[in-house]
Formats: sequence, C-alpha cells, structure tokens
Amino acid sequence: MSTAVPGTTAVREVSVFGDAIAYFNEAAALLNLDPGIKAILTHPSRQIIFSIPFQRDNGGIEVYTGYRVQYNFARGPAKGGIRFHPGVTLDEVTALAFWMTWKCAVVDLPFGGGKGGVTCDPSTLSMSEIERITRRYAAELVEVIGPDKDVPAPDVNTTPQHMAWIMDTFSMHVRQNTPGVVTGKPLEIGGSRGRVEATGRGVSIVALDEMARLGIDPKGARVIVQGFGNVGGVAAKMFQDAGCTVIGISDVTGAYVNTNGIDAAGAMAYAQEHHSLDGYRGGDKMSNQSMLEVECDVLVPAALEKVLNIDNASRIKAKLIVEGANGPTTPEADHIFAKNGIIVIPDIMANAGGVTVSYFEWVQDRQGYFWKEAEVNARLEEVLLDNFAVLREIAQSRGISYRTAAYMVAIDRVVKSLKLRGVYA
Ligand code: GLU
Repeated sequence: MSTAVPGTTAVREVSVFGDAIAYFNEAAALLNLDPGIKAILTHPSRQIIFSIPFQRDNGGIEVYTGYRVQYNFARGPAKGGIRFHPGVTLDEVTALAFWMTWKCAVVDLPFGGGKGGVTCDPSTLSMSEIERITRRYAAELVEVIGPDKDVPAPDVNTTPQHMAWIMDTFSMHVRQNTPGVVTGKPLEIGGSRGRVEATGRGVSIVALDEMARLGIDPKGARVIVQGFGNVGGVAAKMFQDAGCTVIGISDVTGAYVNTNGIDAAGAMAYAQEHHSLDGYRGGDKMSNQSMLEVECDVLVPAALEKVLNIDNASRIKAKLIVEGANGPTTPEADHIFAKNGIIVIPDIMANAGGVTVSYFEWVQDRQGYFWKEAEVNARLEEVLLDNFAVLREIAQSRGISYRTAAYMVAIDRVVKSLKLRGVYA
C-alpha cells in the first residue's frame, strides 16, 4: 500500500505489517520481552502463496493469487478470516494474521492467529466464478487447514455462502463431513446463531461500556460509522437500538451524513436491496474522508486499514474511537489521538466479538449440540466485558493506552503458552 508523503508529490510504500510490529514493540518494551521470544513472535510461522487458475463464465482462463498466513500456533489452531479484495497482498495478510494472534489471546480463546486472502475484485465476478475461485482456494489448502490446524472464517467480501463452499470442498477431499474446518457458516450446515451479527454487536458492547465510564449518555450520543458491511451496518443498528443518534454512515460509494439521525435499519434494508448505499437519500452525501472529520462522540472505522493516519488525525473530533476494522489507525495517528485526549478501543479488543462467536461455533460443531441465540449473546457479552475489564485495569494502573494494554495482555498470554511448550528444535 502506498500513501502520499505530506507536502511533496512523493509516494511512500508503507508496510501494514511494519505498522503492526510498531504497536507490538511498544508493548514488548514494557514487558521486557526476551529477544529470542520477541524474534519468534515477530516472524510468521508459515506463509503460503499459491495460484488460483479458474474458468471465467465465457470460457477464458485466468489466474489469481491466493494467500494463507498461519502466524502463530502457541495457543491452538490458527484462526482468522479470508478476504477477497483487490488490495490483498502478502504484507497485508501477514499483518492481519499477526493481529488475529493477539485478538484471540486478548479474549482468551484457545486459538493462534491466521488470515487468508485472494487478490481479486469480486464486483467484476459472477457468483459461479466466485464459487470456483473459493473452491480452488480451499482445495489448495486441504493439507494445512482443519478443525485442529487452521480454521478460516469470513472477512471483507466473504460470507456464510463462501464458508459453505469451503466446508463442502474440504469435506469432499477428506471424505468426511467436517463442519469445524470453517466458522461463519450458514446455520443449516453447522453455523452458530448470532455469528453474523457478532462483530457489530461486540463493537457496540465495548463502546457502550466505555461510554458509561466516560459519562457519555447513549441517549442522543452522536455516532459515525465508516463502512456499512457486516460490521458497520450491524454496529450502527445496535447503537441506534441503545438510543444513540447515528449521524453518519458510509460505504465505497460515499458517506451520508444527517445530524438529525439516520435510520440504521432502513439504511441496511436499502443497502441490501441496492447492493450498496449508492443513491441513499437519508443524509447529505460527502466523501468518506470528510465524514471522518465531522464532530461526533463515537467514531467507528469499520472498513479497511489506515483510514486514520498522519494526514487527518489532528482533524478528528470524536471523543471515542472504536476500531471495528482491523488496523484502521496508523501508529502516528494513534499518538496524535493520545495527545489530543481521544480514547481508542483497539481493533484486537473492539472487533473480537466475531472471532469469539466463531469459537462458540467451533465448540458447537465439535459437540454437535447447538445453543440458543440468547445463550450465544450472553456468553459473548461476558467474554468481551470480562476481558475489557482486564485491559482497563492495566491501562489505568500503568497510565497507558488501551491498545498497549491489549498487546501486553495478549503477548503475555501467548508467551506463557510458548514457554510451557518450549521451542522444538
Ligand atoms: N474476520 C474476522 C476478524 O477479523 C473474524 C475472524 C474469525 O472469526 O475467525 O476478526
């Protein structure tokens, strides 16, 4: 990924993984990490790059590139989504797998971290083309994924349907029905109730908890949500249900701002019908970048990486930023927010609701016994709030940010497992 260097016409290549490591290093310094352990944790266990040849509907053959990074296995099988996006690179997938390692540890799940992706633009592909790409992706990974090896899930532009194709392809290859090879599946084939909403629900749970601490009354609190997919759309609706006024929403087609409030459920229905928010009339249209700078109480970046960066950080007027996306804030921006007194709930805590219910799904699949939605939601809330309380305690007692506290807790948990297991050499 490249960004403009401010004040010049130059463009600088910025590594997403490099930024992620910068966050790790801040916490590692406070933990006095042994250099050998630090070396292990700053290297991915395994990176797999492969070709995905597939047939277009018109008969032509094309070849895309697929990735799966299994970052760390100290606490259990690798875990993390698969992204279909034109911006997918090995660097990005490695950073996302790195973040999954810490995300699973922050909420104390018995998983390591992984992530996958295909560099493609799904908006240019038919459903049957996407199915062929997805099945070939799964077939290429048959030996290295599985309920006790690596468990993929949905991410940007992948859905329960994609997971159904992966589960089916894997099960056909191993000649055994294996629902636990992926999570985020449709209910009919071993999915969990509450999984689709879990990430957005989790974002609102931790945000409302922090708002209570900050004395921000949800009634009338102004919320802006950037990104209106599975995370942003659900979070917007949950904020509204809690009494907040959602004053801005956006997707790739632009941002829609209305200080009197946007009807989140109506906007979701609109986006479902029209496949995007294009033409939505519930707010004034502006650019995504401008919307991020509108004054609000809570800002939820729920799209892609690096949207809050050195170029706009000093103009952000939110009181609280809740990272629905992975990696939306660069380290430079994070320091500006700290200086300006803006509280940030980091991605590895704020959006951990999704992987938490993925864990519940994996448990249910292994037991063949499925829980009611109320039970899933109650357990999700307990996991998130219990672990958020641990971060708050550390952040307050040491005078550090939630992000550094989250990395400290996560690194400490992974290091304990690593030390007990030892280095097999
Ligand atoms: N893709 C989601 C994330 O970034 C969910 C991962 C999962 O459920 O494994 O957390």
